[in-house]
Amino acid sequence: YKFVKENSDSVIKNCIDRKMPDAAASVPRIIALYNTYAENRTRLNELNHARNNLTDRIQKADKDKRLELLEEAREIKPEINTLTFVLLQQESELTALTYALPNDVEELNPVGPQENARTIKIIQPDRKDIVDEPRDHFQLARDFDLLDIVSAAQTTGHAWYFLKNEAVLLEQALIQFVLQKAIANGYLPLTCPSVIRRNILDCCGFQPRDRASHVYAIEGTDLCLSGTAELPMAGMFKDHMFQYSDLPRRYVGVGKAFRREAGSRGLESKGLYRVHEFTKLELFAWSRKDESEQAFDDMIELQANIINSLELHARIIQMPSEELGAPAFKKWDIEVWMPGRGDYGEVSSTSHCTDYQSRRLNIRYSKDGSKPEFVHTLNGTAAAIPRLLVAIIENGWDKENDLIQFPAVLKPWMGTISTIRRK
Ligand code: AMP
Repeated sequence: YKFVKENSDSVIKNCIDRKMPDAAASVPRIIALYNTYAENRTRLNELNHARNNLTDRIQKADKDKRLELLEEAREIKPEINTLTFVLLQQESELTALTYALPNDVEELNPVGPQENARTIKIIQPDRKDIVDEPRDHFQLARDFDLLDIVSAAQTTGHAWYFLKNEAVLLEQALIQFVLQKAIANGYLPLTCPSVIRRNILDCCGFQPRDRASHVYAIEGTDLCLSGTAELPMAGMFKDHMFQYSDLPRRYVGVGKAFRREAGSRGLESKGLYRVHEFTKLELFAWSRKDESEQAFDDMIELQANIINSLELHARIIQMPSEELGAPAFKKWDIEVWMPGRGDYGEVSSTSHCTDYQSRRLNIRYSKDGSKPEFVHTLNGTAAAIPRLLVAIIENGWDKENDLIQFPAVLKPWMGTISTIRRK
């Protein structure tokens, strides 16, 4: 609260840069509320002090004086009760308002909308135009019998799917391949719950707006279907104190991601590009603050290495302020070239959340009993399977031989299949 009060101009500018006008508008309210809260606290401290003083004096006083002092103590009591109640209310409003404020942004990060993203690095530049007569994955998946959305529409709804035949094997191969890569880079494997408490969502910086459009709530409970394994992993060390030597801690979580994607019914929701449920491998790291930049670089390097091994052309981009959401201090995406779309498509997103989530989740570390500090948390997509399938199918299309090639690194997990053929 003090930080917001003392840096209100930059806090408001940051909210506006991130296109969070409601958060910007709440800053004057936070400051006004904090001022009265502070006054009320001072007053309550004074009253409590006076009451303690009276209690001491009552014990030592003679009978007449005692009655007089008891009356004085009785007079103070209603104000103490009222102030205690008011302070609780003000504290909960302050918490709700400040929870909704976004993290700071890294200096020199581009400001503005998606178009202002800055390219950091190109992966496999020679593999951009390798496909003759590109086709979109949806058509290829139908031609090669890899996907059934008609049956899924019948059992479940629009933007749900059955994967079929080689696509099933490709999903499992990708999980294995990426899992092994992550483990080799120091990430411990985890299978995560797909259901999560709402308060973990709040602590991770998912706003009510995100919830309304992205999150499936489970009726009659305080639970939701998780949109990413980031959430259970962030929550697993809630209220935890790491020892200095425990950090960095790194996990690769395998989970199902559920997204309502309310309002998106356009081209992107045709086929596998934007679906309601998908398998996702997520990287998560807890780091000391002086090592978190390194942890971020390591995460990006691993992701770039995965995309490179899958022989896909891609670009790593630094996301501008409006695309950061609330928790990220910085966020870099990887976009892969998808010939059928004739465009790049986002396959991975890595966020450095500094102490934004750990403050809300109360995750700290301390060295030899020294003053604890909040850890830094980082998360990034290791593999979002449907988007990788889109990229692999569209880039692997070989018109001349009428088949789909898939990356050589996946062959150990594809059994006897070496290419995808028409049935
Ligand atoms: P996010 O957790 O929203 O940053 O998304 C991480 C990655 O998951 C994205 O880079 C996409 O590759 C993938 N993804 C996100 N939403 C969907 C969706 N509705 N359908 C398929 N893949 C998705």
